[in-house]
Amino acid sequence: MDFALTDEQRMFQKMFADFAEKEVKPIGEHTDHEEEPPLEVLQKAAMQGFMGALFPEECSGACLDFVSYVMLLEELAKADITTAMTISVHNGLAGKTILDFGSAEQREKYLEPMAFGEMIGAFALTEPAAGSDAAALESTALRDGGDYVLNGNKIWVSNGGIAGLFVVFAKTDPGAGARGISAFIVERDTPGFKVGRREKTLGLRGLTVTPLYMADCRVPAANLLGEEGKGFKIALQALDVARLSLSAIALGACQRALDEGVAFSIEHIQFGGPIALKQAIQNFVADSAAEIEGLRWLVYHTAWLAAQGEPFSHEAAIAKLLASEAAYRIANRMVQVHGGYGYMKEYAIERIYRDVRALPIIEGANEVLRFVIARDLYDQVGLKIRP
Ligand SMILES: Cc1cc2nc3c(=O)[nH]c(=O)nc-3n(C[C@H](O)[C@H](O)[C@H](O)COP(=O)(O)OP(=O)(O)OC[C@H]3O[C@@H](n4cnc5c(N)ncnc54)[C@H](O)[C@@H]3O)c2cc1C
Repeated sequence: MDFALTDEQRMFQKMFADFAEKEVKPIGEHTDHEEEPPLEVLQKAAMQGFMGALFPEECSGACLDFVSYVMLLEELAKADITTAMTISVHNGLAGKTILDFGSAEQREKYLEPMAFGEMIGAFALTEPAAGSDAAALESTALRDGGDYVLNGNKIWVSNGGIAGLFVVFAKTDPGAGARGISAFIVERDTPGFKVGRREKTLGLRGLTVTPLYMADCRVPAANLLGEEGKGFKIALQALDVARLSLSAIALGACQRALDEGVAFSIEHIQFGGPIALKQAIQNFVADSAAEIEGLRWLVYHTAWLAAQGEPFSHEAAIAKLLASEAAYRIANRMVQVHGGYGYMKEYAIERIYRDVRALPIIEGANEVLRFVIARDLYDQVGLKIRP
């Protein structure tokens, strides 16, 4: 068993932390307050190779291993959770899916502009009647000569406001359930494809979450991603990466929340001294630090499994479940440490508290992840359970 990071991973970690502190942290408040996507930071991230973090060198990517990638997301999330989510959706859900399932032509056409930050990626699975039950999606993609014709609506597409390409899931065989789902790459300016008005959200306010409307939207058959009918498997594999990524983002959020709480507790005076001297506050801090320590090893271990090419779906579900709930719990505690100041917008903890509320819902709601974890366990003893 070896718990040490390599010299290269340590160097990367420092580079990510420097970038996040210098370029990302200062824009967090503005991104939230103005509901503005962090476009300038995305360009700077592209210069560092972070917009093609998981892509190989021939696609102008940084070719990061998964452990380094989760450290990147952790550092970004410490600085600003919205920016971390924007980059994670682009890299993991959109880019990595094209890398893993795309044809040579698709990789060549899309991954380089994505790595340069010229084309932002998004992932459109959810529909009004298909959230946790994604296989119930109703959008269709029917073959017509050399094209597929897409019809249907998607909701809550992260990066929808800024994306140039969307990985879209639709049914090529509407009678075949999950086996009838296929994935497509759809460019933003495709006729019949419309990005709807941005949602107003509680947190992650710079993420640009939008609906999509597809009305006789024709995409060439060359834009089919992977094989026809294999879209659901593609979505599940993409969600494994997304859950691992989200656990790293939650970990970064936990650490930032704790850092904010500790700093405040030292500065803030009540009863003649810093509140840090009160045991009640120390307990909040100690409980949070203990949770973070455990989570960090869980998230890194899951990333290590992914880096070895080992199965990591079960571990990613556990990591996402625990990290997202810890983020919410720790942010809540640290609001309490701040007292009334924690409720005021000028304190970062107020934004963190709102941002992390999304984490137990997205990339697989935690109730469904509990089912996934239980299903895997019961599977081992031959009992099949259903959601
Ligand atoms: C900020 C944000 C960004 C998002 N970005 C994207 C994106 O980029 N792309 C995309 O495709 N989607 C995106 N989503 C959608 C997200 O993935 C879904 O919200 C999520 O999958 C849950 O689906 P739902 O909201 O429809 O809830 P539902 O599935 O309707 O669930 C409602 C409640 O019922 C519970 N529940 C459902 N089924 C079960 C069950 N079998 N057992 C127990 N409990 C159950 C859920 O856990 C939840 O508590 C985003 C959502 C948000 C809020």
